[in-house]
Amino acid sequence: QYFQRRRRRIALSQSQTSELESRPIELRSDDVLNGIVGLIGNTPLVRIPSLSDALHVEILAKAEFLNPGGSVKDRVAVRMIDDAERQGFLHPHTGSRIFEGTSGSTGISLAMVAHARGYDATIITPDDMAAEKLHALRSLGADVEQVRPASIVDKKQFVNIAKQRALAFSSASSESVVSALGDSIAVLTDSDARGFFADQFENKSNYDAHFDGTGPEVWRQTNGNVKAFVSGAGTGGTIAGVGRFLKSMEEDVVICLADPEGSGLYNKVKHGVMFDHREKEGTKRRHQVDTVVEGIGINRLTQNIDLALPIIDDAVRVTDSEAVAMARYLVKHDGLFVGSSSACNLVACVRLVKKMGWHSGERIVTVLCDSGARHYSKFWNDEYLRTAEIPIDLGLIEDMLASK
Ligand code: PMP
Repeated sequence: QYFQRRRRRIALSQSQTSELESRPIELRSDDVLNGIVGLIGNTPLVRIPSLSDALHVEILAKAEFLNPGGSVKDRVAVRMIDDAERQGFLHPHTGSRIFEGTSGSTGISLAMVAHARGYDATIITPDDMAAEKLHALRSLGADVEQVRPASIVDKKQFVNIAKQRALAFSSASSESVVSALGDSIAVLTDSDARGFFADQFENKSNYDAHFDGTGPEVWRQTNGNVKAFVSGAGTGGTIAGVGRFLKSMEEDVVICLADPEGSGLYNKVKHGVMFDHREKEGTKRRHQVDTVVEGIGINRLTQNIDLALPIIDDAVRVTDSEAVAMARYLVKHDGLFVGSSSACNLVACVRLVKKMGWHSGERIVTVLCDSGARHYSKFWNDEYLRTAEIPIDLGLIEDMLASK
């Protein structure tokens, strides 16, 4: 049928026709995805040739930068909105609005998915956020409110402000009545506009997106042949969800945390106490992880980190210089342009393989959370790195690969 239609439209020579017939195109009706949300997830698992060849193992990475919003967070955004709808809290096209406090990719993913699903989004960010992320949020039509960076215990911290704004939005758009106790309470009907505080740190939908999505994808793509899963933790959703799924299929899979400088998680895993190693050196306690590696590392416990901690077997500390060097190494040897947390994950893969003495084709899976394009102003800015006194030294990676 296909060939007949082609022949009617364009006159093909006999030889061209037989060439076409020798390459039949299989027609499938399910190759059409519904809207931008249909493009989320089911990312390829890609082998990293340079590192795999040098180590004689298979370093495999989920190409999450291929999600339409450019990061692994698309999965979480759609799941948080789906779950809120399933629980009857959100109803599309009612003027409802999603609120989130984030300096990372979650805001971009939420802004994108919100519009696709009939909502608006307000994203509260610290005012030192990378310019390209701010640009992306605004281009996606989010309302952006920038506030001074503050500790999470401060009412004016961006996550706390997002929550306050969501509450205020819900009660302002509904009929407020006075309860028997004299409190003003909001009575909402299904057609009322609601303010939904997405709350990726505490929201279990974040974990579920990975337990039900990313984890099973890894299992299928490796035929269940996985030695280890390596990941950083920002909210903890990825490592908790994928880690718990893989352990539920095969309890011997090693789950390894990749932790950047400035994060307290490494010490929590290794010594049971959450502290940033620099605190010991006299620096004051940091609630905000201050590193050139963005999106991972944390200094407080959250619901999703709590889900992750019991299943983490090992942790690797990754320095800023190592992450910077790894990202340049990958561009040079593989043409792979990744963001800072992806580079950090790959450094941790190399360290883990060396430490365990794996050398005969074992499969280590990790995540390429986003692309380098999200990081031009800091991690991929040589001028910024010079000012921050972070060297660009590929020798760090060469030595790491060559070490015993
Ligand atoms: N990489 C990037 C670029 C991120 O934005 C995030 C999320 N903050 C992560 C990694 C970490 O993922 P998770 O929140 O699931 O721990």
